[in-house]
Amino acid sequence: MSEKKIIKNALIVDPESYKQFYGNIIIKDDYIDEINSDIIPDFADGYEIYDAKGNILAPGIIDIHAHTDGYYFCGEKELAQGVTTVVCGNCGISPAGITTKGFYDLQEQKGFNINQTTFTGHSFTLREKAGATDCYAPASQSQIELMKKLALQDLKDGACGISFGIQYAPGTTTDEFNQVAKVSADFGRPVSVHTRLNFPNDWESLKETLDIAKNTGAHVIVSHLSYMFADGQMDRCLEMIADYRAKGYLISADSGMYTAFSTMAGSACYDEDQIKANHWDYSQFVAANGIFCGQHLDKQKFEYMRANEPNNGIICFTGVEEDIYKALCFTDVMVSSDCGKALPGQGHPQDAAVFARFFRIMVREKKLLSLIEAVRRCTYLPARTIGIKDRGRICKGAKADLFVFNPDTIKDNADFPGIGNPDLPPDGIEFVFVNGECAIKNGKRVESCNAGKILRFN
Ligand SMILES: [Zn+2]
Repeated sequence: MSEKKIIKNALIVDPESYKQFYGNIIIKDDYIDEINSDIIPDFADGYEIYDAKGNILAPGIIDIHAHTDGYYFCGEKELAQGVTTVVCGNCGISPAGITTKGFYDLQEQKGFNINQTTFTGHSFTLREKAGATDCYAPASQSQIELMKKLALQDLKDGACGISFGIQYAPGTTTDEFNQVAKVSADFGRPVSVHTRLNFPNDWESLKETLDIAKNTGAHVIVSHLSYMFADGQMDRCLEMIADYRAKGYLISADSGMYTAFSTMAGSACYDEDQIKANHWDYSQFVAANGIFCGQHLDKQKFEYMRANEPNNGIICFTGVEEDIYKALCFTDVMVSSDCGKALPGQGHPQDAAVFARFFRIMVREKKLLSLIEAVRRCTYLPARTIGIKDRGRICKGAKADLFVFNPDTIKDNADFPGIGNPDLPPDGIEFVFVNGECAIKNGKRVESCNAGKILRFN
């Protein structure tokens, strides 16, 4: 196999220098060795040549918010969209409920198609390990101390930060939230936060999260704005974020491209008081997995899932589409999939489609973002936010995680269970390189390529 590869005739988009230009990229081993504008022949001894004519060459996508967590089928759906790195362990759930070291070691042993890094999760995992097993009850100070100790060990073992899913552990006091977040802040790592409630006009939950940046100094990433505030509340949400940012606090956010969210049937999000407060009707709920997959639920089926399939997803059809566009145009909001474990034919189309949908709608159809800004929001910006220094950019010496796509044809094809196939890969993806290896060639998966690495932070 050739050691060197050339991707030629591309429109290269570098979100770091904010420049785009026609040229070629030469890959040596797993890094970018040279960027030039030479005329490259079709054959050259010692080189594999990939023709990117008519396409964009960007850094591989870095998915800042996902639950890919070592699930190979999730990774495959991500890769098919141009994702080369995924940030796992969001919403307070560590991958497989194990330590960061345990997850990293296991993944390195098994191998994976794309790069993974993970947050250590507070609201399910750390809480459970510390014995705070009742999600509705506050943790004792000794349990909080244990969570802090476990979190610190995970950070030392290379976790990218601590994630919170306060909505899923409503017993969490603001004090517990602050104490655990401070461990990440003191270690120089960010926190990602799925906020406490999404009741209409409940601003205390967002304030509590933004105050974490003020109280602890942590860089706070507010998770999936699309799923928390895209119900006519986005203007106020973005105003509050802008206000804290103006005061110098480190606040970022991510958002998907759908208003309909999916979460576990048994979670506190689907408790009766939440359903009432949000004025949700059972007919808005569709099973994402399980025996009712693709069906609209009634009270009986909903209760069956809560009792018997608590870990299966229920999709809630809600929200205002324009709110997503507002979020994704706001300063430093990144694009995220929220991808999670699902069997083939089940789950949320976000897993297979969110990034292609983002480029189709935000850039090509609505022209709300320039191409380079759209690329920045799913590559360089997430890299900078969590501190990945050698990916998410196009420069000599950077890791060769690269994404070649056609901006005129990129299009999402997946749809919700019951309506379409949630797994369908997008159109317009030509080549994807992971650590210098070609994982997608002329739109087709190179099955033998599993070049993902574990990204440890320290
Ligand atoms: Zn979440």
